[in-house]
Amino acid sequence: MAGPAKALPAIDPERCTGCGRCVGACPPHVLWLEAPDPRGWGPKHAVLHDAPGCTGCAKCWVVCPFDAIAMLRPPGP
Ligand code: SF4
Ligand code: SF4
Repeated sequence: MAGPAKALPAIDPERCTGCGRCVGACPPHVLWLEAPDPRGWGPKHAVLHDAPGCTGCAKCWVVCPFDAIAMLRPPGP
C-alpha cells in the first residue's frame, strides 16, 4: 500500500449532475452514484464511498465536466 492519499475528492452536490464520468474514470472504483433518498428517488450524485481506497490520483477531478469536484487535503495528523 502507498499510504493515505494526499488529497481526496470533495463532490459539490449543487454542481454534480450525476453524469457518472468520475465513476467510470476512477481506477479503484471507490466512487458511486447515489440517490439522496434510500428508495432511489431523486437526482443521483457522485459520492466517495470508500475514502481509504482512494489513491488521490485526481482522475475524477480531471474528467468532471461540471467542475463539481475539488481535491482537498484530508485532515492531517
Ligand atoms: S482521486 Fe482517483 S482514486 Fe480517488 S476517487 Fe478520484 S479517481 Fe478515484
Ligand atoms: S463527473 Fe462531475 S458531474 Fe459527473 S457524476 Fe462525477 S462529480 Fe458529478
